Amino acid sequence: MPRSEFSLIRDYLTGLGASREDVRLGVGDDAALLQPPAAHMLAVSTDTLVAGVHFPEDAPVASIGHKSLAVNLSDLAAMAAEPAWATLSLTLPAPDADWLRDFAGGFDALARKHQVALVGGDLCRGPLAISVQITGFVPQGRALRRDGAAVGDHIVVSGYLGDAALGLQAWQGGERQASRTSPLIDRLHRPGPRVQLGLALRGLASAAIDLSDGLASDLDHLLTASGCGAEVALGQLPCSEAALRYAGTTAARQAALAGGDDYELCFSVPGWALPALAGIAADTGTPLSVIGRVVEKPGLRLRQPDGRLLPVSVRGYQHFSEEP
Ligand SMILES: [Mg+2]
Repeated sequence: MPRSEFSLIRDYLTGLGASREDVRLGVGDDAALLQPPAAHMLAVSTDTLVAGVHFPEDAPVASIGHKSLAVNLSDLAAMAAEPAWATLSLTLPAPDADWLRDFAGGFDALARKHQVALVGGDLCRGPLAISVQITGFVPQGRALRRDGAAVGDHIVVSGYLGDAALGLQAWQGGERQASRTSPLIDRLHRPGPRVQLGLALRGLASAAIDLSDGLASDLDHLLTASGCGAEVALGQLPCSEAALRYAGTTAARQAALAGGDDYELCFSVPGWALPALAGIAADTGTPLSVIGRVVEKPGLRLRQPDGRLLPVSVRGYQHFSEEP
């Protein structure tokens, strides 16, 4: 017997995430009542995940819950904001209690890890889609933005790039259980947002963006906002051992440059801040790689292993591309 929206929300979506004192009234009324801290800005972001577009339709359900929150946390990380509150809007093809339980489990674990409280949500029927809105705090004037990069700054990325794109390739190719593909598939399904890194970069980074659509595309957004260009060394792009083993050097570097869904951070730092990065990498457990420099000439150019400097055609994932 189909269950009502209200009983499903009550049983599976109430009380998810951390309990926070600044939530004066959470799920259950017409709106949540939240107490922002003094002298802070609210950083607000939202992302929608659609089945078959943002995750494979047959992805593990708990990982869909994880990823729907992770992509939003990643946006706050890129702003150096401390996550606090989330709302969730779920569209489900059917009122499936098992699905909701597994989804809530994935969402809840990541929310608790980052001290996020779910403060509201709704449930309706339709093709599977998940919208999360997240709110975080950042002290006045301390947010990282895309428009602060300056000529001479170093360009840095966190973690390893391209794993998620290769993971999708492996998943779609049916290579799901092999030990050589599972680290890549895990990166696709369960991205780890770089929240601690973002907070550590306050006052050090000049600009930042998270990598959702691919390095070439997202770095280009940062450069355009900052009114400058960049030279990046292809050989400096950090590829994981799993990516190199699975795809080989050339394809792994291509995935690192153009593949989406990594949810790493890309940021610029002035030269004086560079020595601080080793300590931040150690404190946050995050590999950091310097991949290039900000230059005056607009556009992104790639230093090839043979020394040539070639322009990069920016081709990240675009939902409304006019090309076939
Ligand atoms: Mg983003």
